[in-house]
Amino acid sequence: MTIQMATNRTFTMIKPEAVENGNIGAILERINAAGFRIVAMKKTQLSADSAGTFYEVHKERPFYGELVSYMSSGPIVAAILEKDNAVADFRALIGATDPTEAADGTIRKEFAESKAKNAVHGSDSDENAAIEGDFFFTEEERS
Ligand code: UDP
Ligand code: MG
Repeated sequence: MTIQMATNRTFTMIKPEAVENGNIGAILERINAAGFRIVAMKKTQLSADSAGTFYEVHKERPFYGELVSYMSSGPIVAAILEKDNAVADFRALIGATDPTEAADGTIRKEFAESKAKNAVHGSDSDENAAIEGDFFFTEEERS
């Protein structure tokens, strides 16, 4: 039997169109107001290779090529966030993948342009939160 420890951490990115549109501050404000603590954060730009690796789980899906070119098209903000029930609570805060299906008050409802350009990433499990945080941050960059 494997005991899965709840990590209380999730990983997010503010995606290129949200950075381009000047929404870093407004989105961080929403994250802060929802009770998440920032453990690590950086503004950076993914190469196409790095974006391809990050989204490798989607490589058989029809939107993969477009997703990789979009996510490497401009700077992003990557962050590790901490809160009780972080993964599920952050998914609730960002809303559905397609902003036309996202609930009122969610970050994607307010800031996303489309299903592809949907403003923010949020990890879908504790395991992926750890993998994705490790992709961007060293141990020394977390506090
Ligand atoms: N995506 C897309 N078209 C789709 C589904 C997803 O362009 O039909 C993009 C979108 O940017 C999404 C990302 O691929 O955020 C990852 O897809 P996933 O199904 O994991 O959605 P998420 O977990 O981000 O809600
Ligand atoms: Mg996902």
